[in-house]
Amino acid sequence: MATTERTEAALRGDMASSEDAPAGAVPDRGTIRVENPATGQPVRTIDTIGPDAIPAMVARARAAQPGWEALGFQGRGRVLKRAQKWVVDHASRIVETIVSETGKTHEDAHVIEVAYAANAFGFWAGHAPKYLADEKVRSSNVFVAGRRLSVSYRPLGVIGIIGPWNYPLVNSFGDAIPALAAGNAVVLKPSEVTPLTSLLMAECMRECGLPEDVLQIAPGYGETGAALVDEVDMVMFTGSTRTGKKIAERAARTLTPVSLELGGKDPMIVLSDADLERAANAAVYYSMQNGGQTCISVERVYVEAPVYDEFVAKVQEKARKLRQGNPTGPGAVDVGAVTFAPQLDIVSGHVDDAREHGAKVLVGGHARGGEGQGRYYEPTVLVDVDHTMRAMTEETFGPTLPIMRVTDTEEAIRLANDSPFGLAASVWGKDVARAESVARRVEAGAVCVNDAQLNYLALELPMGGWKTSGMGVRHGAQGIRKYTRQQSLLVTRFAPKRDVHMFPYRKTTTRALGGLVRLLYGRGRRT
Ligand code: NDP
Repeated sequence: MATTERTEAALRGDMASSEDAPAGAVPDRGTIRVENPATGQPVRTIDTIGPDAIPAMVARARAAQPGWEALGFQGRGRVLKRAQKWVVDHASRIVETIVSETGKTHEDAHVIEVAYAANAFGFWAGHAPKYLADEKVRSSNVFVAGRRLSVSYRPLGVIGIIGPWNYPLVNSFGDAIPALAAGNAVVLKPSEVTPLTSLLMAECMRECGLPEDVLQIAPGYGETGAALVDEVDMVMFTGSTRTGKKIAERAARTLTPVSLELGGKDPMIVLSDADLERAANAAVYYSMQNGGQTCISVERVYVEAPVYDEFVAKVQEKARKLRQGNPTGPGAVDVGAVTFAPQLDIVSGHVDDAREHGAKVLVGGHARGGEGQGRYYEPTVLVDVDHTMRAMTEETFGPTLPIMRVTDTEEAIRLANDSPFGLAASVWGKDVARAESVARRVEAGAVCVNDAQLNYLALELPMGGWKTSGMGVRHGAQGIRKYTRQQSLLVTRFAPKRDVHMFPYRKTTTRALGGLVRLLYGRGRRT
């Protein structure tokens, strides 16, 4: 099946994932040939881990985990802090690896991915003891008076992480950091498109003293990911909503908990009092950064009518100036390649569909590159768009910016919420109180006012999707507690030989206890 046919089939839902791709779609499932999307040149060929090898791998992780847990927060934190330094010391090597397998710019690799990992190692080393400390609990229920109540957090065991290709360090490996900090072992299946960064990070962790088998990388195709779901104690998945649903279904068979970070169609609302220069700069940056291949990128814009023309003119001027091509070094280009080959057809399909339905292409609108030249989609600005077009309703995941005029704020909110997704959003306006009240009405797990995406850098702030954008969160206390089993403890030190509610039941005691219930709750006061 040709790439275009494969993508169309996938979009129709006929071909749900590479797990059930027809024989021949992937020539050799024993190896992965990593190719540089910016040049079309081969980078490296590596052996895969097939699904049959997964049970033994997870068994090794399970055997190694108790020793890692026994090191305690301090011992584990030391390894993570060493890794933090390793990432900074080896930044160039990591950047080169990421750029070579994704075709993204050096800035997107260094300033976003390397900086995120360096921060995350220190953050989780420092915050894990606080987020996972035993919590004292007080109860208002007189029936447990005198008892000591607490909640403790214990690692789950082996975490399976299945990652995508758009951020091989942030999204795939990044999730391993809190999982390890919590005392788990991890088996990570990176995307078949970008396995090299994860392999490099495994080298980092070994050099920094992580015990053997506590982190293992399983480069492979969809079926390897599926096998991992069957074996581990919890699955952290980032990728498409379609594959996320398959993983949740499969995990349900063994009642394995899952955390899913899925697709988005993130709206940007520009109110009539917005700082248009800043909003236009942000619209262009947050839609095109990383080639638009970011789950929390600006995917569609709604602009209030009075400022629509001025905003569009500014965006058009800025988008025209973007330089795209092979990212040969820092500052070489602004927008890199399309990392995943079938994505080019999705992006082209959305732009062509918009054109056919009456949209106007102000900037870009074409695929570029070819055999041996890499693959690109031009930074593209679309206007005269509406919700009959896929570019406004489906995740495009490319360097496109469709802008729609709305009559007022109510229409902007209604259209922003007219989506099966709810990952992130942004609202722009100088009256911050008004912009914030709009933000609170947008159905999304994270909303920025006069900013976008930056919430992701605040690791204290939980981040997770509403609707079909996901389940569970990364970051914040919940972002590490999800890798643990919660245990509630009730400890009784001083107590009579027999409590009043125990056997034998007596009429007088039952009446007295009933009276107590009436006294406590009869007036609807106590909870
Ligand atoms: P997928 O969701 O298909 O793949 C993500 C990961 O899951 C990959 O490692 C993949 O392996 C693996 N996988 C595939 N099938 C299964 C399965 N049945 N069980 C377990 N693991 C499986 O994403 P794609 O890379 O195909 O991208 C498709 C779309 O997803 C994009 O067009 C974009 O819209 C969205 N996307 C969203 C991302 C986000 O950050 N939320 C990131 C990337 C993509 P393999 O690579 O071998 O197929």
